[in-house]
Amino acid sequence: MSAVILDGAKIAAEIRAEVAAEVKAMTVAGVAPGLAVILVGHNPASEVYVRGKVKACGEVGIYSEQHTPPDSISTEKLLELVTDLNRREEIDGILVQLPLPPQVDSKRVLLAVDPAKDVDGFHPMNVGFLSTQRPGLVPCTPAGVMEILKRSKIAVAGQEAVVVGRSDIVGKPTAMLLINSNATVTVCHSKTRDLSGVCRRADILVAAIGRAGMITRDYVKLGATVIDVGMNQVTDRAEFERLFAGNAKREETFRSKGSTLVGDVHPEVAAIAGAITPVPGGVGPLTIAMLMANTVRTAKLRRGRQ
Ligand code: NDP
Repeated sequence: MSAVILDGAKIAAEIRAEVAAEVKAMTVAGVAPGLAVILVGHNPASEVYVRGKVKACGEVGIYSEQHTPPDSISTEKLLELVTDLNRREEIDGILVQLPLPPQVDSKRVLLAVDPAKDVDGFHPMNVGFLSTQRPGLVPCTPAGVMEILKRSKIAVAGQEAVVVGRSDIVGKPTAMLLINSNATVTVCHSKTRDLSGVCRRADILVAAIGRAGMITRDYVKLGATVIDVGMNQVTDRAEFERLFAGNAKREETFRSKGSTLVGDVHPEVAAIAGAITPVPGGVGPLTIAMLMANTVRTAKLRRGRQ
């Protein structure tokens, strides 16, 4: 058996095309959506993510602006910037790129974002809306996971779903969305007993752990749908061999770049899963597409168009 590959890049492109059409119609109507991104300091990974987000805005026609305060910024100064963006009518979405420097109180900053402009869906009010099934803003990566399932016509209702990872950003909201879609959900973490046994019960297994290739075939039921949220850079040769021995294409990337991107799911799982998201090209592209979709959604909600 060889798993169906769930092409996240293709699904993301579909969503972006839908968003672009909506943005065009809104712009014609004089209500072009706008996104403000706050990037503090010079974290190289954050810079790459923000560049991708700003580029995506340009491609779908969303107005975007970047604010790049220095690493040394205080919580108070950052709160002033957020307050200013909250007030500005033409800004529909505010995204504070994490992580923030250690002297900044991240929770206070996220709490200050107007929940109606919280395109990341991290504000406790939106978390509450999600858990009580009220309309609100849903975190982008979990929303992307659900879009992959929906657009790939994978049944969720009544299915046994296991989510490995309980972060506020990925694991918990993904579990909540699966519950809201009538799956029977188990959430696992680093203290879970018999993790592989629990995972083997899953019809839908979501891995959001941050450990390269941890989910091997022992964790997966034959024919299960496996959604790999993990994004890990492998630089160690022995680790590379454990994951990709005999894979000529990966070998070429590893040799030329000194690293390769891998999910939390071992490549061997593709031989027993029914369907699986690749890394790269699976969940990753959905995260930015859902950010675009959330920005349009906030614009519509704020301007009373939905
Ligand atoms: P966190 O580090 O915040 O959470 C990781 C979770 O995995 C925790 O709940 C932790 O348990 C659990 N965990 C860690 N080790 C084990 C283990 N050995 N057994 C069982 N559970 C374990 O990570 P995030 O949720 O932010 O991200 C998870 C992964 O998803 C990362 O690889 C990240 O890069 C990727 N990611 C990808 C995105 C995308 O766009 N594709 C977006 C966001 C994240 P405990 O709570 O007990 O510590």
